Amino acid sequence: MSESRTPVQRSEPREISELRRLKEEHPDLSSAADLQIELLQIQRRVQTRVPLPSIKLERAYLNELLASGPILQFDHLAIDWSDMRYLLRATATAMRKHEALDDTDCRRVEEIARDGERLPDILQNWYESVRPDAQPLIAETQGLESVLQQAMRPFLTRAGDAIMARSDLASWKRGTCPLCSGEPDLSVITAAAERLLICGRCAARWQFEQLTCPFCLNADRSRITSFASRDGQYRIYACDVCERYLKAYDARRASRPVMPVVDSVATLPLDAAAIQKGYR
Ligand SMILES: [Zn+2]
Ligand SMILES: [Zn+2]
Repeated sequence: MSESRTPVQRSEPREISELRRLKEEHPDLSSAADLQIELLQIQRRVQTRVPLPSIKLERAYLNELLASGPILQFDHLAIDWSDMRYLLRATATAMRKHEALDDTDCRRVEEIARDGERLPDILQNWYESVRPDAQPLIAETQGLESVLQQAMRPFLTRAGDAIMARSDLASWKRGTCPLCSGEPDLSVITAAAERLLICGRCAARWQFEQLTCPFCLNADRSRITSFASRDGQYRIYACDVCERYLKAYDARRASRPVMPVVDSVATLPLDAAAIQKGYR
């Protein structure tokens, strides 16, 4: 019996098998895990053919760019627009199916995907909206940020991986992403007890002071509240100044590396605990 299952498991990426395992262990997380499995399958269809970003991938050049700000510009992303339209539609449909998006918003995504001429501007506005000096998010995409983020993921992570492999991010001291300016949505505590923040958009990782809040840069340790999940696998660092929190995967006591897609589902109960304590 185990033999007949082998081919399926082999063809599946590790994240999907970990999500399936999570579902078995925590049936209450099934719906969230199923959505992430479906999103990963959608993104995989495109991921394999995304070309490298159109930026000179040389260490000295990238390090020099980093000295004056985030490296990755929207124009560097190698976006295939017919793939992009597919990703938008399929992401919205999957989220709708798992009740993470309502009918109205699903139709709004359809409209954005249909308008081929404006689509590049719309996505550029979304991409740049996280910068401190940026134009605000246009009305058409307000409330659809998570759909756009998922749909852009194959292009963003491809660029993120390529740049991370050829640059040194150790000099970056900010709480936002050195590549795309995005905010971290997870972190990992390494075997050397350092904390790496993980960008919620391009998945870049960079080292950051463990007891400083990346959102408001509060470094007063007495105003950072930290607590662990029951199994000790995850931690929360919550800031009592801006009242935001960031989760961490403790790789020192782990049997596998951090997997943001899996860990974001596994930590949903921890999110609920943080929100109940008044953090956001
Ligand atoms: Zn990023
Ligand atoms: Zn803060």
